[in-house]
Amino acid sequence: MQVNAQVNLLKIVVSAVAGQQASGIVDILYDKKNVNEFLIAKKLKLTINQTRNLLYKLSDEGIVSFIRKKDKKKGGWYIYFWTLNIGKGLLKLKEHILKNIGNIGSRLNLKKTERFYHCENCSIESNEENALLYQYTCPECGEVLHVKDKGKEIEHLEKEIAKLEDLLKSVEYELGIVGKKEGVVKARKVRAEAKKKSKEREIKKKSKARALKKLEKLKLKKKKSRKIKRSRKSVKKIKKSKKFAKKIKRFFGR
Ligand SMILES: [Zn+2]
Repeated sequence: MQVNAQVNLLKIVVSAVAGQQASGIVDILYDKKNVNEFLIAKKLKLTINQTRNLLYKLSDEGIVSFIRKKDKKKGGWYIYFWTLNIGKGLLKLKEHILKNIGNIGSRLNLKKTERFYHCENCSIESNEENALLYQYTCPECGEVLHVKDKGKEIEHLEKEIAKLEDLLKSVEYELGIVGKKEGVVKARKVRAEAKKKSKEREIKKKSKARALKKLEKLKLKKKKSRKIKRSRKSVKKIKKSKKFAKKIKRFFGR
C-alpha cells in the first residue's frame, strides 16, 4: 500500500516537471539504484536522447541523480546511471501543491470580493472596471451585462483546494515515512562511524603504548651502559691513583 502510494505521488510530480511520458521513469527507478540509461530508454520505448532530456529535467529539480562511467568499449563515451530520490521528489510535489493552493486561493478570493459581469449571448466576462468602461453593455452585441452568479465557480474552486489539501496530507504522511527510514539509515551510519573511530583510537593507543615501552627500554639500556662506562672509568681512576700513591711511597720511602 505504502509503496504504491509513493509511486503514485512521485508520478504526479514527475509528470508535472517532465511531462506525462516521463511518469514511467518512476516505475523503472523506484527502489533501485544506478539504473543504466539505455535500459530506461528501452523500457520507455524512447531514444536515448529523448530519455536523457526527460532525466535532465528531473535532475534539475533534484528528483533523480546520476553517476557516470566511461564506456571503454564505445570509444570512451560516458554512460549515465540514474537513481530516484524519493524524499526530494515528494518535497518537490509538496512545493507544487502549495503553489497551486496559493494560486487557486487568490483566484477564489478575487471571485468572492469582486463583482463580475457577463453577456448572456456571447458569454463574455468582465470585471467591475471593464463593465463600467462598457457602460454595462456588451461590447460585441450591445446587450445589457448581468452580474454573474459566482456560486458555482466558487464551489468549484473550493473543491479544487480541498482536493489539493488531501493530496498534501498524503504527501506529508509519506514524507514522514521516508524521513524515518532515512533517519534510521543515518543513525546506523553514525553508529558504525563511531565504532570505527573508537577502534582506530584503540589501535592508536596500543601502538603508542608499545612505542613508549620501547622508548623506556631504550632509555634504560642507555642509562645502564652509561653507568657501566662510568664505573669502568672510576675503576681506571682508582687504579691510576693507586699507582701514583705507590710511586710517591717509593719516592719518599727512600
Ligand atoms: Zn453580447
